Amino acid sequence: MERVGENNLVFHPTKAIDMAITHNLGFPRIGAKRELKFALESYWKGESTLEGLKAVGAELRARHWQDQEGIDLVPVGDFAFYDQMLDMSFTLGNLPERVRGLEGDVLDNYFRVARGRSAAVADADAQCGGVAAGEMTKWFDTNYHYIVPEFTAETEFRLDASRLLEQLAEAKAQGIQTKSVLVGPVTYLALGKTKDGSDRLALLDRLLPVYRELLTTLAAQGAEWVQIDEPILVTELDEPWRHAFEVAYHELKSAPVKLLLATYFGTLQDQCYLAANLPVAGLHIDAIRGRDDIVPLLNLLPSNKILSLGVINGRNIWKTDLNAVLDWLEPIQQQLGERLWIAPSCSLLHVPVDLTSERKLDGEVRSWLAFAKQKLEELRVLASALNQGREAVRSELDANRAACEARRRSPRVNNPEVKAAIARIDARLGQRQGPYAERAAKQAERLGLPRFPTTTIGSFPQTSGIRQARRQLKAGEIDQAAYTEIMRTEIARCVREQEALGLDVFVHGEPERNDMVEYFGEQLDGYAFSQFGWVQSYGSRCVKPPILFGDISRPKAMTVDWITYAQSLTDKPMKGMLTGPVTILNWSFVRDDQSRAVSCRQLALAIREEVLDLERAGVRVIQIDEAALREGLPLRRSQWGEYLDWAVECFRITANGVADETQIHTHMCYSEFNDIIASIADMDADVITIETSRSDMELLDAFDDFNYPNEIGPGVYDIHSPNIPTVAHMVELMRKAAERIPAERLWVNPDCGLKTRHWNEVIPALTNMVVAAKTLRATL
Ligand code: GLN
Ligand code: ZN
Repeated sequence: MERVGENNLVFHPTKAIDMAITHNLGFPRIGAKRELKFALESYWKGESTLEGLKAVGAELRARHWQDQEGIDLVPVGDFAFYDQMLDMSFTLGNLPERVRGLEGDVLDNYFRVARGRSAAVADADAQCGGVAAGEMTKWFDTNYHYIVPEFTAETEFRLDASRLLEQLAEAKAQGIQTKSVLVGPVTYLALGKTKDGSDRLALLDRLLPVYRELLTTLAAQGAEWVQIDEPILVTELDEPWRHAFEVAYHELKSAPVKLLLATYFGTLQDQCYLAANLPVAGLHIDAIRGRDDIVPLLNLLPSNKILSLGVINGRNIWKTDLNAVLDWLEPIQQQLGERLWIAPSCSLLHVPVDLTSERKLDGEVRSWLAFAKQKLEELRVLASALNQGREAVRSELDANRAACEARRRSPRVNNPEVKAAIARIDARLGQRQGPYAERAAKQAERLGLPRFPTTTIGSFPQTSGIRQARRQLKAGEIDQAAYTEIMRTEIARCVREQEALGLDVFVHGEPERNDMVEYFGEQLDGYAFSQFGWVQSYGSRCVKPPILFGDISRPKAMTVDWITYAQSLTDKPMKGMLTGPVTILNWSFVRDDQSRAVSCRQLALAIREEVLDLERAGVRVIQIDEAALREGLPLRRSQWGEYLDWAVECFRITANGVADETQIHTHMCYSEFNDIIASIADMDADVITIETSRSDMELLDAFDDFNYPNEIGPGVYDIHSPNIPTVAHMVELMRKAAERIPAERLWVNPDCGLKTRHWNEVIPALTNMVVAAKTLRATL
């Protein structure tokens, strides 16, 4: 690429003026076959060498650049062994105090900071080489988790550009036209946390010289374009943070590179002016979610700036309607000429790598999909159409039109009965018959539970026997009848153990469920499953979200046989166990042809039928898990209300068709309720079980302050830890709970399901829990 004069304009040497340039913001690094995952885990287990791991990293980078061939500017520096934010912390020399001075390879130190689980479990089992793991949290509204940068008032930064320079050199050697990728300084600070209560924004002055040095260093190695990610710009920023953008980019303006400021995941709204006028060479925006920004931006953007439009959705797995995008883009190209760049909306980190690996996916559904490699192909087609006219890619455009049309018209997507049922939804559907107080009295009489009733959250250990049976069933080594028999034996074991423990409300243990969403998705019409559709969740962990492609319906009951079998083995109430519609939605790839709210209502109606079937089968207690309700909150607080309205409505539709005597439980495994407590109360579940053990019951303050009216089971036992909780500790926690919530509305239960634990941990822990409940009954 050449530099053109003083006016900050650039063009590709092989392209004439007026041609749209294509680029990519980031490529999935885990590998089409999850090579990085397996290499990491083997290294962590001591089964392979650091050199071996580094070689896999280099191989993946080389392959992925190859995969992006034909894109004008390919991202470099988007590869990370664990997390791109942690890479940035290392680049900036911002390592937590506790790993400084440690000996050994930098990458080993990096893993010391990285390893551990989510933020929620950081203190439990995140010990690695005696160093506490860094806290982890969700990257905006994706299911990717980053390691939170840690700051104190004393934090100093020092450049270590080695990783970026090495990757840049590799790419150049491969003949790649590069664009280096960094997390921008304001987003880096905004997503971090200070450990001493100091103001992290005060660190900006110390941070900027290091960024400038980094840009200068990259330029010296031949980097011309640098993509600097500032997605924080799509969230609500107060004045000091907006000002930080001005300060930062005026400071960086003198660096000898061209900066492409990248925002994604949302709209700039009133930050359009700010984003348009920062002194950078180009601005990238998410033209899927942020389309409303385009008109104002076209007016605001200074005439020397590149505008990069993210027109291919980097957050879903659907084919783009290329003709529709062209209809929209061509007039913009007329206006912008060579200042128009096109790209995916965000990094492709959030989609699987390659659709061609899929051998078992239903052919019809498959023809509607595009994974990362296919999305880049779409981008190439768009660029050809823009640069040479649509005729140049007529056959690709026609094939794409045919696929999009087929999807729109498919009876697999459109089910008139479901649409009619959605149209019939009215408020009564979500309304319990009686108010909580009346229901509670009827349920108490029917269930005859003691004070401080004990229960568990649903799953019991998923033993190797269970996993083996599932493998054998899949491989055709055992038939369905044999599998069912093995699962029934497991259920019987769970019931026996619960009898022996003396618990009050039983569960069947969920042995038959591989995953709380996939299990239901597999039984609902409108869902498809990929074989290799893995997306990185954190570190080496990946998830394979089910694909919600059509109107949702439930051909037959999904859980009733298992639960009635379990109930037949005991007189104690057996909980029916379901995953709620909001959680199923939030953990799936969802449709782009209807709103999330509509898809969620369809799920709600389907799960509601299951609830009613369970009730008809005599099940007295039904739990509907909404583990991911909070996760779906939009990035901007101004949109929270709308989301919560339909999410709560969907839960109510699912749960509230039952008689007063039927007790509805819900479960949420997180510990932040302050800002959504009114919505939680609105769900009107008779009992909610939540995660509290690590917050010392303080989170119950939110329930207390709100005068939360129904029953609560605050988790007293941290299931993420192998430690056996003591009776005294659990009694103490429940006493604290009773200071906030009247004792007659408290349940005693663990924080979450027990599937990841071993029986030899679960039995002593629950034994202590039951003793704790008895102690409470005797003393409170
Ligand atoms: N019922 C589920 C279980 O016990 C709930 C899991 C969850 O909340 N994540 O496994
Ligand atoms: Zn949970």
